Amino acid sequence: MSISIQQVSKNFGSFQALGNINLTIPDGKLVALLGPSGSGKSTLLRTIAGLEKPDMGRIIINGQDTTNLDIRRRNIGFVFQHYALFKHLTVRQNIAFGLDIRKHPAKQIKNKVEELLGLIQLQGLGDRYPSQLSGGQRQRVALARALAVEPQVLLLDEPFGALDAKVRKELRSWLRRLHDEVHITSVFVTHDQEEAMEVADEIVVMNHGKIEQVGSPQEVYDHPATSFVMEFVGEVN
Ligand code: ADP
Ligand code: MG
Repeated sequence: MSISIQQVSKNFGSFQALGNINLTIPDGKLVALLGPSGSGKSTLLRTIAGLEKPDMGRIIINGQDTTNLDIRRRNIGFVFQHYALFKHLTVRQNIAFGLDIRKHPAKQIKNKVEELLGLIQLQGLGDRYPSQLSGGQRQRVALARALAVEPQVLLLDEPFGALDAKVRKELRSWLRRLHDEVHITSVFVTHDQEEAMEVADEIVVMNHGKIEQVGSPQEVYDHPATSFVMEFVGEVN
């Protein structure tokens, strides 16, 4: 499912958060929105999700204009930095949540949950509660929960931002492997250039609500298109 963002602008009062964004996210790719704090990354992600309505422009997903489509009719998985799992539900019940409310058959739900537990490599922990998991394990459960309903598109907003450096590194390579298995068109937001370099097929560098450059990690690193990209990508955190 490719995503086509066409001439999208978004203002908050007189402040321009997104200025005429044009971007195509190819089917099955893992794309990073990279930029400093306040550059409009989350606003763009939320616009793709339908959580924000653009003032101008269109969002086309898989050929369908979704700009005015009700959020509940969009088939999108979302993982936030602090994606609170339901505390009173076990890992299995958390993963099953979206399937339960869609009233899928019990047998089908059970199979799907086991498959996802395998995918996130938490087979033995299905009956635990979120409080009995580490931060990294919780984010893996949040990912499984987002994937359970088989969304067309997976959106991640700084999914590892709240975790410590070591766990973040582990989850990076883990996300990369997961994506290589499921090949779902995915967009993830990060302000960490190293993270974008390591995980993404393609990087979209943003600054002040505009796109500075789109390219593979190699292209962006070797041939920065602007002085901003050169400075930002060259920075070592
Ligand atoms: P990023 O995710 O890159 O840090 P955001 O997309 O969250 O940036 O925000 C871009 C700019 O838009 C920021 O200056 C932020 O303060 C502003 N902004 C975002 N959401 C709102 C809102 N709901 N109301 C007013 N300003 C907002
Ligand atoms: Mg943000």
